[in-house]
This record gives sequence, C-alpha cells and structure tokens, in this order.
Amino acid sequence: MDVRVRYAPSPTGLQHIGGVRTALFNYFFARAQGGKFILRIEDTDQERYSDEALDDLYETLSWLGVTWDEGPIVGGPYGPYVQSERFELYKRYAEQLVADGKAYYCYCTPERLDRVRAEQQANKSEQQGYDRHCRNLSAEERAVFEKEGITPVIRLKVPTEGTTTFHDLLMGDISRKNRDVSPDPVLLKSDGFPTYHLANVIDDHLMGITHIMRAQEWIPSGPLHILLYEAFGWQPPLYCHLPMVMGKDGQKLSKRHGSTAVRDFRQQGYLAEALLNYVSLVGWSYDGVREFFTREQLEELFTLEKINKAPGVFDYKKLEWFNGQYIRQKSDEELLALLVPYLVEAGFITAVIDEALHSRLLTLTASAKERLKVLGDIVGLSRFLFEEPAWENLSLFAAKGVALQTAIDALQRAYGVLKNALGSQVDDETIEARLMDLASEMELKVGGIFMPIRVALTGSSVSLPLFDCLRLLGSEKALQRIEQALAILKREVR
Ligand code: GLU
Ligand code: ZN
Repeated sequence: MDVRVRYAPSPTGLQHIGGVRTALFNYFFARAQGGKFILRIEDTDQERYSDEALDDLYETLSWLGVTWDEGPIVGGPYGPYVQSERFELYKRYAEQLVADGKAYYCYCTPERLDRVRAEQQANKSEQQGYDRHCRNLSAEERAVFEKEGITPVIRLKVPTEGTTTFHDLLMGDISRKNRDVSPDPVLLKSDGFPTYHLANVIDDHLMGITHIMRAQEWIPSGPLHILLYEAFGWQPPLYCHLPMVMGKDGQKLSKRHGSTAVRDFRQQGYLAEALLNYVSLVGWSYDGVREFFTREQLEELFTLEKINKAPGVFDYKKLEWFNGQYIRQKSDEELLALLVPYLVEAGFITAVIDEALHSRLLTLTASAKERLKVLGDIVGLSRFLFEEPAWENLSLFAAKGVALQTAIDALQRAYGVLKNALGSQVDDETIEARLMDLASEMELKVGGIFMPIRVALTGSSVSLPLFDCLRLLGSEKALQRIEQALAILKREVR
C-alpha cells in the first residue's frame, strides 16, 4: 500500500504540543513507509480563523524541519489543499447525496430549532437534537419553502436502526448504535459552507488518504464519518486515534500545566531537536529504553505498532532535561550563534559583533554551556557583563549563617588577595588556594568568602563559576566592582 497521511489543522490558534505530536507522528509514519505526508488547512470555520494561527503553523513546522509532500505552498495533484478554496466541491458532493436519497434539505428556522430544543429540555425528552422534521417533506411542502425564498441546509440521513462500527488500529473495534449518533447533522450550511465532517470526509477520500492519525478526542466523530463514507459509497481509510497528551496530574494537557504553545517553548530557548525528540516519546517508544533520536532517525524508525494505548504524559522537567542535553552537544560556536539573538533582545549587544567581542562571547558560551536549561537562561547569567550590578539587597553578600559585617570583612580581605594575585601572573588554582586559606583563617566555609565576591562581581548569588566571572570581566573591572561594593556596604551597614 502506498501510504498517504495528512495533518489537517484548523488555523484557529497557535500550534500546541498535542497538535505538533499529531503532525510528527503522521510525518514520521509517511517517511518510514516511503509514503506521502500531506498538509491540509481546515479553515471552514471562518469565525475562528486567524492569519496569525496560519503563520504560526508554517513557522512551527519549518522550525521543526517537517516538510510536506503535498499541501499549501508546494501544491500537489489533489489540490487545492486549503478547504476554503474547495467550497464548490463540497456543495456538489452534498447535493449529490440529496439526489441519491442519503441526505435532505432542511428549511427549519433557528427559531424553530430553539423551540424544539426548549421543548425537549422541558419534557426531559429522550430524543435530543434535531427532530428530523424535514426528513420526509413532500415535494409540495418543499416547494412552499422554496417559494418563500428560504435557503435550506443539507442534513445527513442517519439510519435510525442498526449499529456502526469502525476499526481502530490501536483501540480495536469501536461501535455506536445509530440512534446514538447525532440525529441528522448538518453537512452544508445555508451559506454554502461545509461543516467539518463533510469537508474532512470528502477531502480524505479525494486526497487518497490511507491512514487517519489524529487525536483521540475525534473518536466520537468516527461513526458519523463512517456513515458518510457509506452514504457516498466510499471505502473509509484506516484509523489510528492517538493517545491523549496529559499533564503529570493525569489531566488533559492544558495551559494550567504551563505553556502548551510551541512558539512559547521556542521563545524560551528550547531547541527544535530537543522538542521534536521529546514530543515523539509522548505516546510512542522505540524499545522502551532508547531515548535519543534525531529527526532523521525517527523518519526511519517510526512504527505504528509502538504507539501506546495509554495516554502519554508530557513532563516539562523531562523536556528541560532533553534540552540541556542537546545544548551541551553543540559546539561553542554553534551555541553562541543560537544565544546571540537573546543577547541582542536583552539589549546587551547589537547584532554587529567584532572579533574582540566574539572571543569574549565564546568564553561566555563555554562557561554557560553546562548551566543552560534553555537558551534564554543566558540573559540572567550574562547580565553582569553588560550592566553594572545594582546590589539592591545587601544581605545577599552574606552566605548562609554568616553575619553581614563578617561578610564585609571577608570581602575586604579577599579583595587584598585578588588585587595581589591579579596584578602578577598567578594561576586560578593558586588564587583559589589563597582564598581557601583566608576562609580557614576567618573560620568560614568557602562560601563565606566566595559569596561576597560573587555578589560583588555579578550582583547575584547565582552566577557562572566564580573564576569564569573574573576572567570574563577582566581583572581591572573585577577589582573596581569589589571596590564599589565595599564602598556601598561600608556606607549602608553602620
Ligand atoms: N481540523 C481538525 C483539527 O483541527 C482535523 C481533525 C482530523 O484530523 O480529522 O484537529
Ligand atoms: Zn428541518
């Protein structure tokens, strides 16, 4: 079988983790099978449509390196691949169903439908939804409505008896009594717009889709879609509904858990490789052991058989861990190139980087590499290089359990050690040893000495390794900062 699968998002919101997972599984499956991956834009809901969402879709897929064989921009033999450009076709097919006696025109006004609903509720009626009023209109009755100029909708004749079953590759057979399927859903609205169900089924058929991989929340639509395929006399594709993506608390992943928009992850500085790798493991595994996969590897190794039935858990910490791993795999030069936009955005540097700055930034990158969870962390870690510390909270100078006055004395004496050493050619180990000696002389732990130096140099109690800070600042600047800090401390602390 020549596999043809599709990702069919509705451009109504930003691409989120769940959507991208669906896109990736379809894409990997197509690649692994030597099939085709199709992108289709399901923009039938004009009210919720947004240009921003469409741009975000393209940006997200291109950031992840996911390309489509057929779809918008690239075209293909079954185009157009944007549903709003196919409205004529849906209308034609819907009318064909009416002609074949599988669907019918309904002239009910919104007022009538509201009344029916209100009555059903008041009577606690077993029948819910449309009462099939127009299903058996005579030709004369229809003619009256037509004469009144009412444009009808088209509804599917859902059988009132029997059961509809479809097979899901993952979940097995799924059956629904036809009387429990929504009574005669609208296929074509009176303005000529198709509903999701009609457009989705027609396109999957006409585009030769062989497997439908989509989120499990679409399972309830399954029986209706099967009925539509039957009404058209078409063979339905194979189904594989994907397990839900949950937060760690077992609830469906949502904003309550944290960011879900891929754009947010990207802005915070998650690498595409890391996100792609981790998201692919949510609901799929290779052998339950191996965790690292490049996109190219997944394009070869992905199989439907390894999709889990159970919901996948999206663990933010695990993604962060993957990101750190991928960051550390980068060379310093590669990583620096990724960090520069964050430094520019923070206003630390401009995009014009001369050689001296470049080599300083490389040193910064090498020093920060081990500590970055996301690229954006570079801003906090490097602020001390580009801005003078504010030292707003003087208590930071004192390590835990150390009196502030002691911290000031320690800083004063450490300053002496550093001034001495930095002037001559003394290596880091020697300076460190001298500072340790000072600590034991003052009966302090190392932190009692290092903390005030760290805060003096960076304004913060968390920073890059102390000696990296010294080197990055340069001796002169470093000593100057300590002098300034001491001056403030002496003025503020009596
Ligand atoms: N447009 C639907 C969505 O936004 C597609 C569902 C399907 O794959 O059939 O998810
Ligand atoms: Zn009606």
